[in-house]
Amino acid sequence: MNNYRNDFPLLSRKINGKGLIYFDNAATTPRPQQVIKAVTDHYQNHSGNPGRGTHTLSLESSRVLEEGRKKVLKFLHASPEEYVVIFTKNTTESLNLAAHILNGKSVITTVSEHHSNFLPWQNKQVIGVTEKGTINLSEIKTKEGEVLAVTHGSNVTGNITDLAAIVSIARERHLITVIDAAQTIAHEEVNLTETSVDFFAFSAHKLYGPEGVGVLVMKKHYLTAEPMILGGGAVDKVTTSTVLFKHNEERFEAGTPNTAGVAGLLAALEYVTSIGIKEIKKKETELLEHCLQKALTIPQLKIVGSVTSDKRTPLVSFTLGNIHPHDIADFLDSEGIAIRAGYHCAEPLHAALRTGPTVRVSFSFFNEKQEIDSLFTVLDICIQKFA
Ligand code: PLP
Repeated sequence: MNNYRNDFPLLSRKINGKGLIYFDNAATTPRPQQVIKAVTDHYQNHSGNPGRGTHTLSLESSRVLEEGRKKVLKFLHASPEEYVVIFTKNTTESLNLAAHILNGKSVITTVSEHHSNFLPWQNKQVIGVTEKGTINLSEIKTKEGEVLAVTHGSNVTGNITDLAAIVSIARERHLITVIDAAQTIAHEEVNLTETSVDFFAFSAHKLYGPEGVGVLVMKKHYLTAEPMILGGGAVDKVTTSTVLFKHNEERFEAGTPNTAGVAGLLAALEYVTSIGIKEIKKKETELLEHCLQKALTIPQLKIVGSVTSDKRTPLVSFTLGNIHPHDIADFLDSEGIAIRAGYHCAEPLHAALRTGPTVRVSFSFFNEKQEIDSLFTVLDICIQKFA
């Protein structure tokens, strides 16, 4: 796996004179050369306005979007008979679109959500988590609702909620399922044919793809819903008093899309597929376990959530005595180590777990155990400095 590291130009950057150690993969992943090349190639050789023109460049750009939809479905083992792929600008927009399509329905969601899967839901009831951050799915039985909006993986604790378990309980209660997969898309094998969730959202930039491209995979029958954004490309016919919207993905994609971004997403999907999610998970679990082991030896360090690698994405959030996470983040940055500090856009979860802001380190398969060792060496210095 070590060779893959060379695919990422960003990793050879110096930060404050030190070689970059990138532990903020849960926020956004660096891009491999293959993705950067695909985006550049699109602009250099193919870029036309997709879905509108009839000239070669326009048709080539349209083909990128078609290919992109096919690749996303293949990656998620989803059938084109059952699902459609809508391109948005990120997970947040995908979840807002799902909330718009399901407007008026009562929603059950969880305290574990990122704000992006919490704020869009208006009429909601909230289920809790255990002190380890595991979502109390059985609490759903005590709530009334029509939609179940749940994160597949928490961006604070890394806790993964089994899609099969979510869907099983949702079926029992006749709930429409909306899954926020922002944190799992780069780490977990997903099979939508088996799980058959209704809506599934993620961002390309958390999967080694470009910023500005999100995906909403949804069951085909929701194509009759009202579009969220109105304008060019979404319509079949417009008169001064009427409008006939398309009955395909474009209904929800008014305006010129980010075709170069989709070209990059296509390359990212190919890249991840070529390595294999199983191999990726194996390496990332090793890194996660190494980090947990080291973390457990520091008395002042308090891990938020579970202390094991079971059903978890490769991230660890923690507090370090009374040192403010932003001070830790600044100190680590001065040593070339990029991490995240704060509430991670998940304030209700921090409140439920009775913790203030946290430091979060998140790994990718390209990271090395030695980098984790360096992190802990610097954290030690940090403890002495701020004590
Ligand atoms: N959901 C979760 C669980 C996340 O971790 C994030 C981003 O960190 C989002 C949603 C929002 O993703 P984006 O900023 O790409 O819209």
